[in-house]
Amino acid sequence: MASTRPSLAEDVVLRTTPIIDGLPPAGKGCVFTVTNPATTQTIATIPLLGAEAAERAVASNAAALQEWRKRAAAERADILLAWHGLILQNREDLARLLTSEQGKPLNEARGEIDYAASFVRWFAEEARRVYGEIIPAARERRVMVIKQPVGVVGAITPWNFPAAMITRKVAPALAAGCTVTLKPAELTPLSAFALAHLALDAGVPPGVFNVIAGDAPAIGSVLTSDPTVAKFTFTGSTAVGKLLTAQCATTLKRVSMELGGNAPLIVFDDADIDTAVEGAIASKFRNTGQTCVCANRILVQSGIHDRFAEALAARVAAFRVGNGLEGETDQGPLITAAALQKVRDHVGDAVGRGARIVTGGERHEAGELFHQPTVLIGANPDMRLAQEETFGPVAPLFRFANEGEALALANSTRSGLAAYAFTRDMDRFWRLAEGLEVGMVGFNNGIISSETVPFGGVKESGLGREGSRHGIDEFLELKAISLGLPPQPGIE
Ligand code: NAP
Repeated sequence: MASTRPSLAEDVVLRTTPIIDGLPPAGKGCVFTVTNPATTQTIATIPLLGAEAAERAVASNAAALQEWRKRAAAERADILLAWHGLILQNREDLARLLTSEQGKPLNEARGEIDYAASFVRWFAEEARRVYGEIIPAARERRVMVIKQPVGVVGAITPWNFPAAMITRKVAPALAAGCTVTLKPAELTPLSAFALAHLALDAGVPPGVFNVIAGDAPAIGSVLTSDPTVAKFTFTGSTAVGKLLTAQCATTLKRVSMELGGNAPLIVFDDADIDTAVEGAIASKFRNTGQTCVCANRILVQSGIHDRFAEALAARVAAFRVGNGLEGETDQGPLITAAALQKVRDHVGDAVGRGARIVTGGERHEAGELFHQPTVLIGANPDMRLAQEETFGPVAPLFRFANEGEALALANSTRSGLAAYAFTRDMDRFWRLAEGLEVGMVGFNNGIISSETVPFGGVKESGLGREGSRHGIDEFLELKAISLGLPPQPGIE
């Protein structure tokens, strides 16, 4: 089962092609390029696919489904475990590829490959535990409930976690017995192709996991409207998520949406200041501020505000910024010129409305797409950075007086993905744990996600959960089977 092929570094061209039915699409057509955001140099040229390729991919999923869904769960689990093994075997090459196309520091990329692999292993294990139930419904019958794969799955993923956002969907889908066509982001398709090639090497049959990239609206339109697709799962912005959910309504598909956030991180006077600073850094500056669960608004109580601001700014000013492939770095580039401009606009708007820069605030000389890690004080809810995801290395501090004010501020958004709070008061812990309108809360730590945790949001941050024992349910249907019992003598 394990591959004897050369490593990704030697074999990178082969592994950077889309896959439909186990093969790269034939023929020459339009192409698009992938660039390294740290250097803005082109690193690959990719076939640009559209609706016709999506239709072929879905048809191949439908054909492959017939056999894949009937395999024993243990067999699917073994194949997923082989995939997990190959991902880890190629960890360094996958991490370098990921940093090349996405820009995150190499150490973070290694962490993402481990995180991506963890979903494959987790759902390999969950594949064997898809239990049903028996209900004593009435005297004359029994009801059995079995779980079956939903069928063909369409999936679209973003650029900020080019490996983990894929395995978090594909591993549970395959474990459940579904087949998948995935469209990764145009900016970061290489990790997706590499993962798909490794899946083939691990024994995932052709047609079970297809990856295509190119014309997003055209491919998206097929994945959301083709009646063969039973389930559509998306990670990305709230605006695109709403559009695709509406498109799914025409054929009433099962839908999962992992969308944008606007996480508050609340530091109370009674917090341990070192823990709060470390938590804020972990949450705010991971992936250069480009994660959906990034602290977007840092709310700090008056009594600790100045000490916290000073300690945070000192740590942030010491970050090593640069190309993740060249030496040790803490912060990389923004993904595109538009992303950099948004960060600059948010800082400019905040300063124009009275915020003060404690550190950073400008572009960084490391390259065209770099911005200085920044801490601002004096932020308020009228600023753009309070209302939209900044998706960059900017930590705005909002001062508050009491818990009620902090909770109201935290909940004053249509987003509801994640929140963080730093406090040593257990009564307050419970009030906040229950009062924050989000899908996930981190107390006294800035990292909330792992394969064991149900990941997802409320309000306009999404529908459904990924990861954890609940993640596989998104790819399963319940079927109730009623069994009539023979008459029992002596019982009316
Ligand atoms: P995006 O613009 O919504 O793009 C996400 C994906 O959707 C990409 O593959 C993109 O394709 C595709 N897409 C865009 N327009 C489409 C259309 N009309 N039809 C079909 N597909 C379309 O988001 P992004 O900028 O890549 O990602 C950042 C966002 O994702 C942030 O809001 C972040 O919070 C969110 N996010 C959420 C989670 C979570 O778990 N909740 C995790 C990570 C990120 P192209 O790239 O080819 O245009």
